[in-house]
Amino acid sequence: MLKVCKFGGSSLADEEEFLKVKKIVQADPSRRIIVVSAPGRRNSKDNKITDLLYLIYQHQKYKVDYSSLFEEIKKRYLQIAKNLHIVCDLEEEFKNLSQKLAEGQISEEELVSRGEYFAAKLTASYLGYQFIDAASLIHFDYESKVLENETTKAIQDAISKYPQIVVPGFYGSYPNGKICLFSRGGSDVTGSYMAKGSHADLYENWTDVSGFFMADPKIIPNPKKIKEISYSELRELSYMGANVIHEETIIPLTDEEIPLEILNTNHPEEGGTLIKRETPDKTHLITGITGKKGFIALTFLKKRSADKLNSIMSVLSVFQRYQVPIEHIPTSIDSFSVVIEKSLIEERFYDIMADLKKLPDIMSISEDDDIALLAVVGRNMVKKTGTSGRILSIFGQEKINIKLIDQGREEINIIIGISNSDFNKSVEALYNNFSGEKI
Ligand code: ASP
Repeated sequence: MLKVCKFGGSSLADEEEFLKVKKIVQADPSRRIIVVSAPGRRNSKDNKITDLLYLIYQHQKYKVDYSSLFEEIKKRYLQIAKNLHIVCDLEEEFKNLSQKLAEGQISEEELVSRGEYFAAKLTASYLGYQFIDAASLIHFDYESKVLENETTKAIQDAISKYPQIVVPGFYGSYPNGKICLFSRGGSDVTGSYMAKGSHADLYENWTDVSGFFMADPKIIPNPKKIKEISYSELRELSYMGANVIHEETIIPLTDEEIPLEILNTNHPEEGGTLIKRETPDKTHLITGITGKKGFIALTFLKKRSADKLNSIMSVLSVFQRYQVPIEHIPTSIDSFSVVIEKSLIEERFYDIMADLKKLPDIMSISEDDDIALLAVVGRNMVKKTGTSGRILSIFGQEKINIKLIDQGREEINIIIGISNSDFNKSVEALYNNFSGEKI
C-alpha cells in the first residue's frame, strides 16, 4: 500500500501544525510520499510565504529595499526549526538566496518556489524522510505542460532509491533546468503527478476543512458533508467556485483511477470526502451547489445581412487575441452573448471593446456587468426527469430573475446566471429544497 500525502499551507503554518503533520504521517506507514506547500497564514492578519516572495520580487525589480520582508520569511522558517529542534541547513540556504537576489541572478519563478523548497527541507528533516527536489522530478516543456513520461520515470527512480520522501509542491523544471511553476495553489497538482508517477493507491490531500460540503458554509450554516463524489463532479464544483482544491488536481489521477481523499489536518477523526471515478448511485439527487459572482455578459446584435457563424467567430477571435477565457455563449436568432469573468478583462476592457466595435458584422454591443453564475452539480440529475424544471421553479417562487441558463450535455451540472445580489438567497433556496433529497 502506498499513499501520497499533500499538506497545504495552513497545515505547515507554524510548529503546532508541523506536530500534527508528523502525527498523521507516523500513524500510517503507507504514507511514504509527502508533498508540501509553503507555510500559509497563521491567523487572518498574517501573510502567506508565497505572497511575500512575490512581493520581494517586485521590490527587487523596482530597486526598493526588501530586507525586512526577507528577514520576516527567514524568521518564520528558523523559528519552526528552533522550536521543533529540527537540524537543517537553512541558514546557509538563506545566505545563498540572499546573494542570488542581491546579484539579480534569480527568476521570479525560482524565488517564489523557495517557499515550498524550504518547507520541504524542514519537513524532511523533521520526519526523517529523504528530501527530493521537485526540479528533478516534475518536468515541464517550454509551454509549461508537464512531460508525463519523463516525470513518471524520475519519480520511479527516486522511490526505488528512497522508500520515504518529501517533495516540495508547486514547481518543477523546464528542459534547461530552470524553475517552472504551476498556477497558484498548484501543490495539489504536484501531489497528483506524484500519485500517478508512483502508482499510488491513494492520494490524501490534507487541508484545513474536512472535505467538500454541499454548499458554502459561509452561506449555509453546517451544510451537509459530501462523503463521496465522482471525478467529474469534483471538477465542476472546483471550477465553479468550491475553493477546496486546485481544479486541475483530478486530471493526472483519472487514467490510473487513483482515488483522492480531502482530509482535515486539524480533525483527522472527522474523515473527509473521497473522490473516485465511480461512486454509489443510491445517494442524493444534488451533490453540491456552488458558484461565483463577478461576471459580465456582452451581448452582440449582428447586422441583418451578416452570417451568424461568422459573426460569432469574429467576436471570439478578439477574445482569443487577448487570451480571455469565455464561460458561456448563449445565442438567439440575431444576437448572442459572451459571458466572461469580469476580473479577467477589467484592465483591458476599453482595448477589447474598441476592437469589438470595429468588427464589420456587429451592429451593436450591450453589457450587463451584474452577473453571478450558480452551479447545481449532481451525477444523479440525469436519472430524474423534472429536476431542472424544479430548480427553475424555485427561482420563480423566490422571485429571482434568471438571466441565463445552461445545462451541460452530460447533465451533470446546470448553470444559472442571476444578479450578484441574488446569489446567497438562491443558494439558500436551492439547499433548503434539495439537501434532504435522495434518489
Ligand atoms: N504556495 C503556493 C500558493 O500559495 C502553491 C500552493 O500552496 O499550492 O499558491
